[in-house]
Amino acid sequence: MTHDIQAAAQAIFDKPLQGQLLIEGRWVDALDGRTLERQSPAHGKTVATYAQAGVKDAQAAIESARRAFDLGPWPRMSGAERAAVLRRVGDAILAQKREIALMETLENGKPFEQALAEIEGAADLWQYAATLARNLHGDSYNTLGERTLGIVLREPIGVVSVITPWNFPFLIVSQKLPFALAAGCTAVVKPAEVTSATTVMLGRILLDAGLPAGVANIVVGPGSVVGDVLVTHPMVDMLSFTGSTAIGKQAVAKSAQTLKKVSMELGGKNPQIVFPDCDWDAAVDAVVHGIYFNAGQCCNSGSRVLVHRTVHDRLVEEVTARSRNVRVGDPLMPGVQVGAITTERQLDTILQYIHLARGDGAQVRLGGSRMDRPGMYVEPTVISGVSPEMPIAREEVFGPVLAVVAFDTLDEAVAIANSTPYGLSASVWSRDFDTCVAATRRIRAGTVWVNTFLEGHAELPFGGFHESGIGRELGRLATEDYTETKTMHLHIGPRQSMWSSKA
Ligand code: NAD
Repeated sequence: MTHDIQAAAQAIFDKPLQGQLLIEGRWVDALDGRTLERQSPAHGKTVATYAQAGVKDAQAAIESARRAFDLGPWPRMSGAERAAVLRRVGDAILAQKREIALMETLENGKPFEQALAEIEGAADLWQYAATLARNLHGDSYNTLGERTLGIVLREPIGVVSVITPWNFPFLIVSQKLPFALAAGCTAVVKPAEVTSATTVMLGRILLDAGLPAGVANIVVGPGSVVGDVLVTHPMVDMLSFTGSTAIGKQAVAKSAQTLKKVSMELGGKNPQIVFPDCDWDAAVDAVVHGIYFNAGQCCNSGSRVLVHRTVHDRLVEEVTARSRNVRVGDPLMPGVQVGAITTERQLDTILQYIHLARGDGAQVRLGGSRMDRPGMYVEPTVISGVSPEMPIAREEVFGPVLAVVAFDTLDEAVAIANSTPYGLSASVWSRDFDTCVAATRRIRAGTVWVNTFLEGHAELPFGGFHESGIGRELGRLATEDYTETKTMHLHIGPRQSMWSSKA
């Protein structure tokens, strides 16, 4: 297998993926002929070149989605017909999972085996959305009196702008697009410019699966140019955005000029709260996995551990020991657990946060530096002596950097957990039922794991409180989010004059 993957990667280094823009069912170059190139952060080799959209290309993509919505068959098809297309997409993703996973690894830097699991998970989301396409329904009121029947219709909201980040490119587009399509919407998708390959591959799959022209359009390009058009264009009805809180806030403000509906999945500073009575081994394992998974470039990263003071030193010792054994390296090699940092900018951000924590008096117990090897790698890093008000305890580092904070009581743990602007996820580690329920109820976050971490299912809603976002993805209501309701008020029989205006 190693040999296969290495050979497949070499084939891409020799002949990088060529990506174009998908507009109105056709693959086209940018109007001004511009292109952009992506190198693998782990290998420093070019893996893809793309047509780089400008403002006019983005506008054309939106107009295409608008026409496909206003005139096209897609919003008027039956749920069963839409479900059939979504199922074919899910099947094709599985059939091509190795090719897709390889491009994800080469552009993002994540281990191939992890990427493969993500692509399988993404295929499952397309299958799940297919079931929702047939289950989307409104409501009726037969209780409004003899002469009235009230029907509440669910209609697709229209054209959706889908903007995604670079940390889980294929998984995140699959948390949005199939649900929007299931509802009957049309879309323009803009992947992060550094990880656009798998979204382009998805575009090919969509066309092969029989998605009508213009229903899904893909524009590759910078957020400040292409993303801005997707956020502000009056023909767009809804914005579905995943990315940083800073850019998300700007996008919400700009989209408000045309009062678009927004669905925002943003950053997190997620606490794992460890009580002394927990299953110790499981908790330590989850702390280690929770911070280094995806090199910490994860909105759900367990980037701070809040630990009861009585077991603080033991936890720091054991987490540090296990962190030494985490296998960091070439993401194409089997068994590697942590790959490269995706962008140079992110690498700098991580190193700056570590520097800042040192300056604040926290102790770097392990790691703390860029690794001395080709490619962009950061050592697994454990920082203790952190107090809740330090930036390392409050801000999203988005790297393999764990901040350890001590607490004395459940009240204090909850207060610290809730003390950042974020509220995406958290975990509670205890064998005591009362502790688990009390903490879960009081933590202000969209997901609270109890005695586990980083698990997910298509059936369970995902999203954040506060500055971690607006709305929820996944779950049985995921498709409803991409709809409007319309009240149909039916009068039965002769209607009495309201104003007795007859002479
Ligand atoms: P980012 O905010 O820099 O970029 C996200 C997307 O927005 C990219 O496609 C980018 O090109 C685009 N963009 C940039 N500027 C824009 C603008 N002015 N107008 C419109 N679009 C613009 O985020 P990132 O660095 O790609 O991703 C990391 C962030 O994403 C982290 O904060 C992470 O927590 C968050 N994230 C959240 C979730 C979640 O579900 N809550 C999941 C994954 C990542």
